[in-house]
Amino acid sequence: MANPLFDQLFGKHAGKTTPFLHLASGAILTHAEFLGQAAQIAHALTEFGLKPGDRLAAQIEKSPEALALYAACAQAGVIFLPLNTAYTVDELTYFIENSGAALVVCDARSEAALTPIVTGLGARLATLNADGSGSLTATAKSKPSTFDIVDRSADDLAAFLYTSGTTGRSKGAMLTQANLLSNAETLADCWRFTDADVLLHALPIFHTHGLFVATNVSLIAGSSMIFLPKFDLDAMIGNLPKATAMMGVPTFYTRLLDDDRFTRDLTSHMRLFVSGSAPLLAETHVRFEERTGHRILERYGMTETNMNTSNPYEGERRAGTVGFPLPGVELKITNPDNGAALPEGEVGQIEVRGPNVFKGYWQMPEKTAAELREDGFFITGDLGKIDADGYIHIVGRNKDLIISGGYNIYPKEIELILDEQPGVLESAVIGVPHPDFGETVVGVLVGNGGGEIRLPDIEAAISASLARFKHPRKLIVIDQLPRNTMGKVQKNKLRDMYQDLFV
Ligand code: ATP
Ligand code: MG
Repeated sequence: MANPLFDQLFGKHAGKTTPFLHLASGAILTHAEFLGQAAQIAHALTEFGLKPGDRLAAQIEKSPEALALYAACAQAGVIFLPLNTAYTVDELTYFIENSGAALVVCDARSEAALTPIVTGLGARLATLNADGSGSLTATAKSKPSTFDIVDRSADDLAAFLYTSGTTGRSKGAMLTQANLLSNAETLADCWRFTDADVLLHALPIFHTHGLFVATNVSLIAGSSMIFLPKFDLDAMIGNLPKATAMMGVPTFYTRLLDDDRFTRDLTSHMRLFVSGSAPLLAETHVRFEERTGHRILERYGMTETNMNTSNPYEGERRAGTVGFPLPGVELKITNPDNGAALPEGEVGQIEVRGPNVFKGYWQMPEKTAAELREDGFFITGDLGKIDADGYIHIVGRNKDLIISGGYNIYPKEIELILDEQPGVLESAVIGVPHPDFGETVVGVLVGNGGGEIRLPDIEAAISASLARFKHPRKLIVIDQLPRNTMGKVQKNKLRDMYQDLFV
């Protein structure tokens, strides 16, 4: 009998009284207590009619019980499908219907609205609230704290994780036990996680970053986590002195840097800060080192593959790059037109292959066939290049590539220049429809509050360093860039906002 994911992440901690979760209340949940809770929930899942191979969709707040539900699914052989807590009932309907979930777990607040939808689809509904109450845990409470682990193989599906929907409708990525485990092992090893580590965890757990990167790495290494319901500056500042490592999206780092309490002293015993999910500005990297003496370690991944590349633990962590392919991951840059590998330094589409790469998109055979090659390489949809030292640079998404008058324009190249201009905090360069050129370049700027943004000076700086066809036809200053919950800039929203500028 075996269930690799459960055995290697959870089962190996059975009976251990070591701390697993340090909660905001000050309470500590040991590995054994957590596993007891997970087993009880696994019994409840059986009572709700779930069988191995069924799918469970969960839109629930971050809580120890929500994490125990993930462990319970692994133990019961149920495919776990966590959903963004920001989704509305309308959006949820798509995910529930699309995934064919047999059980939907939601907050009591959504119960009334979801019941007719869930029932109409022949599924069942249970509730789990932020404080751990709800029908799921009420059913679990009286159950034994051990559960017969359901046999699974490494090739069985462990989770469906929907992509963030930054470029279009979210797609369900089918992830196997081996996908998750191989990545957890690799990352724990590369980033030197051990049972002495305490990870400050303020990420959501419906996304690959907080669920698989942060949680699986901690579990496989036996580390504990300071488990905060969300990013809250006071809580972060209060807990940093107790942590050894932190993982965050770039906005975590900029928000910490904007707070005077975030000092070198506060981080003196930290050993690692990891950033990902969206590009970290080189400026943030530099400011962070000046303030704390630490260099943020930036890595690159996605829902479909978990993590692909990482800056080195030892060795230079290079700002503006995502480091090297992880051990076991092959990465190449190819010509989008014919898939041929491109030489060093040239920009092309990023393709990856390895044990981390998913099985395909759920019920989207055509999309899967278009993006997952028969030889196992996955076309990530990101564009990038490899520099002379082997560091990988992401230059943006294929869908954000601007084609103006037949020329390819990579927004990142222009954004890097805009970001350096006096008064500018950050920028987003987009293509908008243009009658002559098909598309033309628009630069959207956000000020840093530290001085006036002088557009003529910026235009002069652009003229001095970029070919004419890359010059933004218009520069626009706005208060902030539209971002989704993972801190990703939603360029499609910007394109919609400015689609009529020239037509
Ligand atoms: P969708 O695929 O639905 O449009 P999404 O691609 O944003 O949404 P995720 O899987 O959450 O959904 O995000 C993966 C993407 O995030 C990557 O393809 C890449 O564009 C971006 N990303 C992740 N890490 C980094 C990083 N360190 N630097 C730049 N971009 C990153
Ligand atoms: Mg994507």
